[in-house]
Amino acid sequence: MKATGPTAASTRQRTMLPSGGQRARGGPAQTSVSRLMRAPASCGRRCPFASSLVGYFQSRRKVQAAAFQDPEEEGLMAAPGDAQEARIIVITSGKGGVGKTTTSANLGMSIARLGYKVCLIDADIGLRNLDLLLGLENRILYTAIDILDGECRLDQALIRDKRWKNLSLLSMSRNRQRYNITRAHMVQLCEAIIALGYQFIILDCPAGIDVGFINAISPAKEAVIVTTPEITSIRDADRVAGLLEANGIYNVKLLVNRVRSEMIQKNDMMSVKDVQEMLGIPLLGAIPEDPQVIISTNRGEPLVLQKKMPDSGVALEAAAQRLIGKLDYFVDLNNPHKGLFQKIGEMFNN
Ligand code: ADP
Ligand code: MG
Repeated sequence: MKATGPTAASTRQRTMLPSGGQRARGGPAQTSVSRLMRAPASCGRRCPFASSLVGYFQSRRKVQAAAFQDPEEEGLMAAPGDAQEARIIVITSGKGGVGKTTTSANLGMSIARLGYKVCLIDADIGLRNLDLLLGLENRILYTAIDILDGECRLDQALIRDKRWKNLSLLSMSRNRQRYNITRAHMVQLCEAIIALGYQFIILDCPAGIDVGFINAISPAKEAVIVTTPEITSIRDADRVAGLLEANGIYNVKLLVNRVRSEMIQKNDMMSVKDVQEMLGIPLLGAIPEDPQVIISTNRGEPLVLQKKMPDSGVALEAAAQRLIGKLDYFVDLNNPHKGLFQKIGEMFNN
């Protein structure tokens, strides 16, 4: 069943729409980068969110030692009755290389760690890489295409993570394997996965807005749009938001990745607030630029599982908890020291 009626996305209000302009309401399309960088109201000022990130980095040593390390103790674990209706969430962006796969792997792992049964689907046909981020590349014998070909059963193609058995990975295809996947195939696959008792299906969408994108969003009831604070990525995110809306997906959230607070402070990068206001999509989280992301990818060990959780891991964990409604406070963009950082402060003052 599709999400009910036009809600967040159709009423989303943006301060302005950069460049592309297809979805701009009124006024000429803005095409100049410098105009874009100047345009949002807070661009010329020190961004409140930037300062919140600075505060966050200052307290990071304490954060990694305490925050999110023991979800059981923090009362975050899945309870009977939680997520009774399975949630199918597509992680998308339009532009490639902005962090969809990183986000999918870490959100999936975080949610599984909290006790939910999660299935990650690498919906990139021919160019899969979610298996690498999870360190599961050697365990894939069958793919979704083999299921559709009648070569194996669904449970044979679902690779269970050894660390968290309630996390499974389904790859659509082996690299370079080709198949004419349809929207109906994707919907059927998701229905079969839900019938196995999975509470969350997270679809890692391929880049672009062609058939691979349409297939990946078909079974989804909600979406997380990943963008970086760059105009090219924001323009694509806006286009994708429009396509999601046109396909009946109204429950959409925004994740701003590769945020660099020092650049925001120098007005060399748009702040998270600016990006969010431009797109008019509710914010799920902001992930800092962090070299640990590359290390984690190369090691096949998601950031949120690392003992010394890096900045990006803490931010992704917070986003995961917010996604499942376990984190009811949020960084108030006008009063950044409230919310997560205030809680962290309180934790250490008490
Ligand atoms: P996509 O799936 O959108 O193509 P990926 O998740 O594969 O994007 O990320 C693309 C590249 O960017 C990878 O090399 C990844 O390690 C890097 N990356 C993603 N997020 C961050 C981050 N927050 N900090 C540093 N590097 C990042
Ligand atoms: Mg990817």
